[in-house]
Amino acid sequence: MKYIGAHVSAAGGVDQAVIRAHEIGATAFALFTKNQRQWTGKPLTEEAINAFQEACAHHGFGPQQILPHDSYLINLGHPDPEGLKKSRAAFLDEFQRCERLGLTLLNFHPGSHLRKISESECLKRIAESINEVLSRTRGVTAVIENTAGQGTNLGHRFEHLAEIIEQVDDKTRVGVCIDTCHAFAAGYELRSPEACRAMLDEFDDVVGMAYLRGMHLNDAKSAFASRVDRHHSLGQGNIGLEAFTALMRDPRLDGIPLILETIEPALWPEEISWLRAQQHPGDAAASAHQE
Ligand SMILES: [Zn+2]
Ligand SMILES: [Zn+2]
Repeated sequence: MKYIGAHVSAAGGVDQAVIRAHEIGATAFALFTKNQRQWTGKPLTEEAINAFQEACAHHGFGPQQILPHDSYLINLGHPDPEGLKKSRAAFLDEFQRCERLGLTLLNFHPGSHLRKISESECLKRIAESINEVLSRTRGVTAVIENTAGQGTNLGHRFEHLAEIIEQVDDKTRVGVCIDTCHAFAAGYELRSPEACRAMLDEFDDVVGMAYLRGMHLNDAKSAFASRVDRHHSLGQGNIGLEAFTALMRDPRLDGIPLILETIEPALWPEEISWLRAQQHPGDAAASAHQE
């Protein structure tokens, strides 16, 4: 069973994200539980939490189908004490918001060394940030996203993710989300079914498939191995549709949220139904669509 959806807006309240996900035909969704461009958000009220949980129950979304994303401002490997402290406080708040909403996953970008500390020192700080938040919360898994490697962002090699996980104390509450655009921009070939399977094989060898807790399905405006993070709609970028067909037929992606962060929300209903149809080889409607 594949859970397929998109990163929907939570404007008007977190329960509105659930309704938007339902409206686009999704069986999974991502959301920000607060404004992603601000350090602090208003605390979630009992009312907001109840409305969210009722909407999830009503539309059939369980916690395993929901992959919240944290704020873009947080740098868990920050080289400076002040920046690190601020990031860790905001990360704890993000975790506690998930805890209160009854969510079990939180997706985030590992961090950046800003050319002030070494890669391994930065990865160590990221692991320590994760250890700190895991020791102060319950039931929420830290889901590290691979990056395109833009600027000084770490996490563009599966080896970086493995090095972080290796230093996390509670390995039952750490996982990975693979973003296809980021992987491709970081130099993981995806332009054929064989290449997609090989990328997952490499992930299994380096990190371990048991850690895969979600995926972001994005085509790439950026070129292969460009280290530039620019998403595109499925089939309109440099990765192409074949990759997404292959991924939808790979049983290793069963049971985890598969989230579109493609650039045209109006296309999400079509992209979701196209992805869903790809699961079954030989489905005439599926192969005719978008080709
Ligand atoms: Zn992300
Ligand atoms: Zn992503």
